[in-house]
Amino acid sequence: MDEIERGAYRAQLRSRREEILQRIDEAARASGRQGSEVGLLAVSKTVGPLELRLAWEAGFRAFAENRPQELSRKLEAARDLAGVRFDMIGNLQTNKVNQVIGKVELVHSVSSERLADAIARRSLARQITTRVLLEVNVSGEASKSGFAPEELEGGIEGMLDLEGIEICGLMTMAPKGMPDEARRCFFGLRELRDGLRARTGLGLDVLSCGMSDDFQIAVEEGSNLVRLGRTIFDPNYVPKQG
Ligand SMILES: *Cc1c(COP(=O)(O)O)cnc(C)c1O
Repeated sequence: MDEIERGAYRAQLRSRREEILQRIDEAARASGRQGSEVGLLAVSKTVGPLELRLAWEAGFRAFAENRPQELSRKLEAARDLAGVRFDMIGNLQTNKVNQVIGKVELVHSVSSERLADAIARRSLARQITTRVLLEVNVSGEASKSGFAPEELEGGIEGMLDLEGIEICGLMTMAPKGMPDEARRCFFGLRELRDGLRARTGLGLDVLSCGMSDDFQIAVEEGSNLVRLGRTIFDPNYVPKQG
């Protein structure tokens, strides 16, 4: 990108950010909340360090990556950017845990007890506590990873005692291209959370759901952390909602 292209992309990122914040605010109000109660993560997995830097210049501060190696690369490139934070949102293999813990604010994708255990043990060994979300396959699609809701209803207790992790909430991904299904899925995540909260006494305050095509629905149904990629970074993306 030359100087002019960088300026144009930065300006576009800035206006997309304004639009997104506006749409989050509308959706939050529809559910009796303020837009400021909903966190916005810019999913930078498809762009390079330059685009990430331009996004920071356009006002984005919280980023998310789905691969440990790419996370390391982006962290390195973003070292001088004030206030920047990263989350891990992708499938994590137990042998890659050490590449992620201590570097991210939140791991969204804890999809099995085995992974929870691995993160806990390695965090404990480094004397840190890793904040995590449990990924739930609310929609039940075979292609999706995560705990089945019944699995958590029956067995979250075993993970509550793990030292080295703090379970902060739940994360899910909705079926694509089906707004009604997506709404049911987000609603289901919140119901599940409310049930687990009542039973365990844990706050489970974070509900991470909503992507480019469905984030307004997610916020209407209670999401307080949306993960947006294309609608921020892809110049050709056409919004699917509202
Ligand atoms: C890529 C990704 C996103 C962002 O998806 P978009 O549709 O581009 O907004 C959100 N969450 C996860 C887990 C992802 O892998």
